[in-house]
Amino acid sequence: MSLLAGKVAFVSGGGSGIGRAIAETYAAEGAKVVIADVNEEHGSETVKAIEAAGGVAFFIKGDSSKPEDNKKFVEETVAKYGRLDVACNNAGIGGPALPTGEYTIDGWDKVIALNLSGVFYACRYQLEQMEKNGGGNIVNIASIHGTVAAPNSVAYTASKHGVVGLTKNIATEYGQKNIRCNAVGPGYIETPLLSANLDENAMKAIAAKAPMNRLGTPQEIADLVAFLSSDKSSFTTGGYFIADGGYTVV
Ligand code: NAD
Repeated sequence: MSLLAGKVAFVSGGGSGIGRAIAETYAAEGAKVVIADVNEEHGSETVKAIEAAGGVAFFIKGDSSKPEDNKKFVEETVAKYGRLDVACNNAGIGGPALPTGEYTIDGWDKVIALNLSGVFYACRYQLEQMEKNGGGNIVNIASIHGTVAAPNSVAYTASKHGVVGLTKNIATEYGQKNIRCNAVGPGYIETPLLSANLDENAMKAIAAKAPMNRLGTPQEIADLVAFLSSDKSSFTTGGYFIADGGYTVV
């Protein structure tokens, strides 16, 4: 049976990497999917891939770091499909690679605006709509750097720790309103974000640090997100679920 049959599901940053895999998996599991991204070409490609596989999807161009765009994502989702059942707040950036004493103020502001404030804005408007629906389910994409440091990426580490915290808060406030909220902490996953920031040797070195001795795939994150987004995880809220090939246990 499909995990998300009849649901309307939203994914930010669905034009690439982990977000694209989540959007495609949501559609394969029976949801009507809304994809938001700043990159129109990539977002539209995800819609085409979903449609080619027999699914239903719709693209909205917008910037997840802006409150008004997050409001628009919810309004346009409801205008198109009538409701919002599931939301995965995934859009995120890495930011500069510098020690904290040299970190740029602009880099800090941009990373926090998208990775932390953007997730708050998204949840703010999604929760309002989900209450009207009588329920819903939010999965926020954090990182293993929601619990361990990423040297030379202070804004990334702070933003992802923040996402874990805001996820817990939402769980406490909405547990009795039929709305669940969980966070996922991917380890190092083969996506354009990773290849843009690391060369091949650095990727091999990272893979070797994990007991499973490899990078993860976007699909391995999407499968966990689909489980958390579905009724299969019905007693799970406020959790932070790491999928990292064992990277953080050694
Ligand atoms: P990616 O760069 O492949 O994809 C990110 C997508 O977000 C792109 O389509 C991009 O256009 C979109 N985006 C960027 N800025 C945006 C904005 N302001 N508004 C809307 N969309 C925007 O990245 P990815 O590796 O798939 O990462 C997705 C999420 O997973 C991020 O939150 C990232 O921090 C997290 N994550 C990634 C890894 C990894 O190893 N790749 C590990 C842990 C966590």
